[in-house]
Amino acid sequence: MRFDSDVAIIGGGPAGSIAAARLSGLGFRTTVFDATGLKKRHRAESLTWQGHRFLRFIEMTEGIEESIIQETTGATIRWANETHERHVTAIQVDRGQFDAALLRFAKSQGAVVSELARVRKVRPQKAGERGGWILTVDTERTTVDHHTRFLVDATGARDLLGHGRTLIRPRTIALIGTHRVDAPGATTFIEATKNSWCWLAPAGQRKMMFAAFVDPLKRGSRNKRDLAQHYFANLVECKFASRLCDAPIAKPVACLVNASRSNQVVGDDWIKVGSSAISYDPLSSQGLHCAMVSGFQAAAVVNTIHAGGNARLAQDFYTKQVYRSADLHKRNTGRLYSDHAKVCPTSFWLSRETRKDAGSQPDLEPSLDFSEKLWIGGRVSFRECAALANDKIVSEVGMCLEQQEPITRFGGTPITEFTRHVDGSRSGKELISVWSRQTSRHDAEQLFRYLVQHRAIVPHKTHVSSSLASMHTRRKNE
Ligand SMILES: Cc1cc2nc3c(=O)[nH]c(=O)nc-3n(C[C@H](O)[C@H](O)[C@H](O)COP(=O)(O)OP(=O)(O)OC[C@H]3O[C@@H](n4cnc5c(N)ncnc54)[C@H](O)[C@@H]3O)c2cc1C
Repeated sequence: MRFDSDVAIIGGGPAGSIAAARLSGLGFRTTVFDATGLKKRHRAESLTWQGHRFLRFIEMTEGIEESIIQETTGATIRWANETHERHVTAIQVDRGQFDAALLRFAKSQGAVVSELARVRKVRPQKAGERGGWILTVDTERTTVDHHTRFLVDATGARDLLGHGRTLIRPRTIALIGTHRVDAPGATTFIEATKNSWCWLAPAGQRKMMFAAFVDPLKRGSRNKRDLAQHYFANLVECKFASRLCDAPIAKPVACLVNASRSNQVVGDDWIKVGSSAISYDPLSSQGLHCAMVSGFQAAAVVNTIHAGGNARLAQDFYTKQVYRSADLHKRNTGRLYSDHAKVCPTSFWLSRETRKDAGSQPDLEPSLDFSEKLWIGGRVSFRECAALANDKIVSEVGMCLEQQEPITRFGGTPITEFTRHVDGSRSGKELISVWSRQTSRHDAEQLFRYLVQHRAIVPHKTHVSSSLASMHTRRKNE
């Protein structure tokens, strides 16, 4: 049997493009089929600093500058009857240009990109034909069959391969419009209203995007006029939106933004990446970053399976990543919904809260001037876990925090290279300074914030530092 590709990727969004770039770089003959290709919709989305850092880490920067609409330096949040400012840097990207840049990156690494090519059907090769898949692809002019050994489903929340999905939150839609404003500024705004939460963000020169996240509209009220009415009803409720004086530039649109995960994410010759595996509640602004990371992880899983590594370890690693991420996401966003449900107990908020987890982890805002000497916290343990290293899934020492994903590496460097400096001899300032030799100062500060927020490093001695020491000694002796 002759295969047209080693790996066929269906979908050229952020997840599919990163998987394609990585797999091509590793020498796999990779083909991407994308129904929309470079003619994508131009919508503004927020890329977190972690997402931006990830692109730098994989040395993918070309074309990203052009897709940046604006850098945002903070968010003003009105939630649970309180207003506060958060210092969070992010960039607003034009999704059309952002996705096009990522697809070009995949091409530059050797992937074949078939644009305006919709995969209509996938079926496994018949038994006796040594595995693999046959894809039926509709292009602009013709329909062709494509034979591949391995399949990557990157079709977004449509999830072409099926297997059923579990909802993380009740079904939600976004009503979206763009307005002209005099000065969009560099801040995004988030506001909880009675039956929705709203997001306002700069969307290019003298433009702002408004999105209201609401329960799905009832049947029979989904025509354009009703949709526009719902849009304006939500806009009027949102106090931050009072700055939008004019009507939207084009008619508002509605799209599904359900947070859900697939019930099966990887098999012996297929894997789901990005929203196809897990789609996030937009409240977290995590979707883009996580989609790209899952493309990167999936490439390592495929590489492990095909390079004779531990295929079972690789599949378990990937499944756990997705399931754990879904659980964490449910808990963290559920807590936010619970906060507002306490002051606004409408069905929108009550149906989204996650009561039993509410308030389990207070949000510390750590000062970077932490002058006390710091230790590893009692919530931490270090143990062997499956990790991604050098494009393979291997077993490595990880830092395990209660209810969080184990951290094995930070920016490609083993996490123990950072934590070994936390031994009671250094203050926060000193730690950041030492860590800055291994990563950028910005990333060192972010890691510090994260670890303090999760009480992984604390200003008093705990028993865990010794378990870390013994782990280091064991590793050295091995
Ligand atoms: C309204 C809205 C606002 C959002 N805002 C943010 C935000 O501010 N920040 C953030 O981080 N995330 C945001 N997200 C989430 C983010 O858009 C997704 O997480 C991200 O797009 C997932 O990337 P992906 O590659 O998995 O899928 P997608 O981006 O959905 O890409 C899937 C690709 O597959 C193609 N495709 C589908 N079916 C086929 C087929 N049969 N054959 C060939 N090609 C096919 C599609 O054309 C598409 O190009 C938002 C989502 C929505 C809906």
